[in-house]
Amino acid sequence: MNYALVTGASRGIGRAAALRLARSGYGILVNYVSNEEKARETAALIEAGGGKACLLPFDVADPAAVSAAIQGWQESHPDDFIEVLVNNAGVRRDSLLIWMEPDDWHKVLSTTLDGFYNVTRAVLQPMLLKKSGRIINVASLSGLKGLPGQTNYSAAKGGLIAATKALAQEVARKKVTVNAIAPGFVRTDMVEGLDEATLKKDIPMQRFGEPEEVASLIAFLASPDAAYITGECISINGGLYS
Ligand code: NAP
Repeated sequence: MNYALVTGASRGIGRAAALRLARSGYGILVNYVSNEEKARETAALIEAGGGKACLLPFDVADPAAVSAAIQGWQESHPDDFIEVLVNNAGVRRDSLLIWMEPDDWHKVLSTTLDGFYNVTRAVLQPMLLKKSGRIINVASLSGLKGLPGQTNYSAAKGGLIAATKALAQEVARKKVTVNAIAPGFVRTDMVEGLDEATLKKDIPMQRFGEPEEVASLIAFLASPDAAYITGECISINGGLYS
């Protein structure tokens, strides 16, 4: 069976992407770091829709944990293939740079950038051998525009977009595509505490996005219809910024 590995699939955009990719026929590897209860809910929702889900917990920033989990899964599933990777796990630790503690800088960069490196490297070789694969990196408007209070997050997501463009050129000949998406404000736990009523006045569509809308873009990039799109970063932000 062909699988999609979705990092950070216990909640938010990752959960919506996992459910949507399951509807496209993929078995889903539901990754999370700590929230087993929510990850089990994602898996149960996939199975209730007739899909197949396996939990695969690891911290994307921990190289040993990533390779142990993915290698272990591959060894116990020799006939299955991870055809889609959605690098979605992410955190934000906002503050002005002048107040930003080293841990807030490193945590955000390591989750996004080390996470991209660790997980992508663990699944790439079989994709190259099979000449088939889709890598979709969840970046952010913050990585395109830069947002005050988010120098760590903007740096991480901007770096992820650049890594997307570089890797896309390395693997295009092997029919593996690598794209990024840059959501604006999407209604998940990550935006809890933000002043939605004020912020949405600046969004031309006058609302936050829904995780399912982002999941549709991810599913399109994973589909055969997107075979000739690679090295792109696609914005999905209600017109806020492109
Ligand atoms: P969320 O609701 O806060 O969910 C974050 C997910 O990432 C959870 O499943 C969490 O797992 C997982 N995670 C965090 N650190 C991890 C780690 N070290 N290893 C493995 N998994 C980890 O966030 P979201 O809003 O859905 O965001 C998903 C992605 O979209 C992120 O990359 C975020 O930066 C990006 N994004 C979000 C927005 C937005 O407005 N929401 C906008 C632009 C971009 P646990 O449940 O185990 O903690």
